[in-house]
Amino acid sequence: METISIIEAKNHVDEKVKIGVWLTNKRSSGKIAFLQLRDGSAYFQGVVVKNSVSEEVFKLAKELKQESSMYVTGVIHEDSRSHFGYEIEIEDIELVGQSDEYPITPKEHGTDFLMDHRHLWLRSKRQFAIMQIRNEMIRATYEFFNKEGFIKIDAPILTGSAPEGTTELFHTEYFDRDAYLSQSGQLYEEAAAMAYGKVFSFGPTFRAEKSKTRRHLIEFWMIEPEMAFMHQEESLEIQERYVAFLVQSVIDNCEYALNILERDIDVLKQYTQTPYPRISYDEAIEMLQKSGKFPDVKWGDDFGSPEETFLAEQFNKPVFVLNYPKAIKPFYMKPHPTRDDVVVCADMLAPEGYGEIIGGSERAVDPEYLAEKIKEAGLDMENYEWYLDLRRYGSVPHSGFGLGLERAVTWITGEDHIREAIPFPRLLNRIYP
Ligand code: ATP
Ligand code: MG
Ligand code: MG
Ligand code: MG
Repeated sequence: METISIIEAKNHVDEKVKIGVWLTNKRSSGKIAFLQLRDGSAYFQGVVVKNSVSEEVFKLAKELKQESSMYVTGVIHEDSRSHFGYEIEIEDIELVGQSDEYPITPKEHGTDFLMDHRHLWLRSKRQFAIMQIRNEMIRATYEFFNKEGFIKIDAPILTGSAPEGTTELFHTEYFDRDAYLSQSGQLYEEAAAMAYGKVFSFGPTFRAEKSKTRRHLIEFWMIEPEMAFMHQEESLEIQERYVAFLVQSVIDNCEYALNILERDIDVLKQYTQTPYPRISYDEAIEMLQKSGKFPDVKWGDDFGSPEETFLAEQFNKPVFVLNYPKAIKPFYMKPHPTRDDVVVCADMLAPEGYGEIIGGSERAVDPEYLAEKIKEAGLDMENYEWYLDLRRYGSVPHSGFGLGLERAVTWITGEDHIREAIPFPRLLNRIYP
């Protein structure tokens, strides 16, 4: 008899198998016990019929506590009533670890309670489904960039300088000098692109976001591709191909998880159709003003969540907003060739109210312009000498972008809050567990 995982049940219909599982819930009467089981690969039901098992096994089945661990032995049957489609008719149970009274019961719990018990809440079916989808998106990311000829070059996490200004920086000590946790690997990826052409980094980034929102984590993972010999237009095409590929990969490989989350697959399918619509920042401002919903909005403002939600709603697809005002974007973005008030950049806004998932731009190449901007931003020139070297030795047009993994996971899974998209969220008031 084979030991299998639950997900393999479909290959063993009418066969006897053994599976290591935890009990998530249970219902029993005098004659039959229904055990809801999980093993990390899927969730399904075990049925224990009093008359078909020994007295001890039936007694044990009735006494098992939620989250007890055990090996069950039995025959796999089809079960058309469940998401999963199979169940096991249990013949024997070998208890591995009985559980204490489990704090998370099948009833509803509040957010704070679940966040305090995150280490246990990860076992829930919902979290299982989200983590499966997150994992698929990571896998698909590597597949996509490998296929497109990129190599992964990691950026450092401890840095002596910060590209996005200093208000959201985490300070730390680096022996006898100051250091910061990385807010973005971008400047290093630019160096890597000048060395290897098409590169990407995928690593944790840290921002001391001082306000509570549904879209901001303190620690999140970012995918940052950077491409030499590439203008913005071609970068936009890579971005939409990449996002469409992420969505398609989840549709193809995560049907079970999407069903658990009750995510409408037809809605997701719309997002696999490229190209995505493009509007300029100027047009976006006009749309917001014309709508009458944003009486105070004026040219020069950065968009918050309500503006981004409104703009994306007009298209029902991810939408690019191009060429934001220079004053609200970082120093390294390329100035527009014919206008000196905007830069060659784009944010990709996700539909359904999820806001910015990608920020990207073509990069400025003129070292004098960059030096000026660095000074203007109040950054310490000494920390950027190496960066200016990239413009001194064989500079080329280059572009790149950053996609926040958890933003994209929140959107694709249809969750309300970004805290659900990472195993152990770091939030303004939370660093436990
Ligand atoms: P926002 O405007 O939403 O604060 P941003 O413009 O500050 O985002 P960028 O610096 O452009 O963000 O970073 C690139 C991407 O990283 C964003 O498009 C988003 O997907 C993600 N991101 C940024 N900040 C966070 C955060 N605090 N938590 C999770 N993801 C984030
Ligand atoms: Mg921000
Ligand atoms: Mg932004
Ligand atoms: Mg941005």
